[in-house]
Amino acid sequence: MAFASKITVLGSGTSVGVPTIGCPCAVCHSADPRDNRLRPSILISYQGRNVVVDTTPDFRTQALRAHIERLDAVVFTHSHADHLMGLDDVRPFNFRQKDGIPIYAHEDTMAAIHRCFPYIFDGAKKESNVPRLDARTFTGEPFDLFGMPFRPIPILHGSQTIYGFRFGAAAYLTDHSEIPESSLELLRGLDVIFLDALRYKPHPTHSTVDRSVKTVELLGARRAFFTHICHDLAHERAESMLPPHVRLAYDGLEIQVEAEAA
Ligand SMILES: [Zn+2]
Ligand SMILES: [Zn+2]
Ligand SMILES: [Zn+2]
Repeated sequence: MAFASKITVLGSGTSVGVPTIGCPCAVCHSADPRDNRLRPSILISYQGRNVVVDTTPDFRTQALRAHIERLDAVVFTHSHADHLMGLDDVRPFNFRQKDGIPIYAHEDTMAAIHRCFPYIFDGAKKESNVPRLDARTFTGEPFDLFGMPFRPIPILHGSQTIYGFRFGAAAYLTDHSEIPESSLELLRGLDVIFLDALRYKPHPTHSTVDRSVKTVELLGARRAFFTHICHDLAHERAESMLPPHVRLAYDGLEIQVEAEAA
C-alpha cells in the first residue's frame, strides 16, 4: 500500500552546488534564497518515518536545516560524490536512536560505498565511533520501507545505469540523460515527479530543462519539480518560462504527496 507523504527538498543543486566556488556570475551572487542550492537530496516523511535519498557532502547542514530528528533509512541513487560523501554524518542518528540504520543501494553502488568508506564495514574494533549501517542491496524489484513500496526505476546517466525511485504517487529521478521506455511505463499516474534539469545547454550525462518538460508532458504527471540545477538558471526567471504545473525545486521546499493519484 502507498501512504501519503511529505517530500522536503534538502538540496536542489548540481554537483558543485550554487553558489559555485569562485564564480562571479549573477546567480552565484543572487539575493534570492532559492538560488542557493546545496547538493541534490530529498527527505521523504510518512507514518512517522524519515527516509533520505542520498547523503550529499552537505548532509550535515541539510539535516540541521530541515530539523531532522530521526533517520530511518537511506536510499542511494548512485555513488557519485555529490550523492554519497556525507554518509559519515549519519552517526548522530545512530547515537540518538541507539541502533543501526538500513541503507539501500544497487549492488554496484553498494560496492562503491564499501570502497569509499571501508572503515564502516571492515568489522574491525574501533577506538572511535563509525556509522552503524545495515547494508541492503536492491535489484529491479520494489522493496518495502516501513510499509511503503519503493520501486527502483532504471535511468541512464550517460552510459551508466543508475536508479530513480517511485514511492506511491511520487517519483524522484535525479541524474539522468535518458529514461528508457520500460522505465517510463513505471511512471504512469503520478501526482508528483522530480526530474533532473541541469541547465538549458545539452550535457552528456544530465537532462536539460526542455528535455524534462517533454518528459513531464509524456508522462502526464500532475506536478513536476526540477532539480540538480546549475548556476545557468536564475530561479525566478527560469520558472517564469515554465508551464504552471512545472516548477523548479528549491532548498527547503516541502510538498505534500497524495496516497494515490486520481
Ligand atoms: Zn549528481
Ligand atoms: Zn556562477
Ligand atoms: Zn551523478
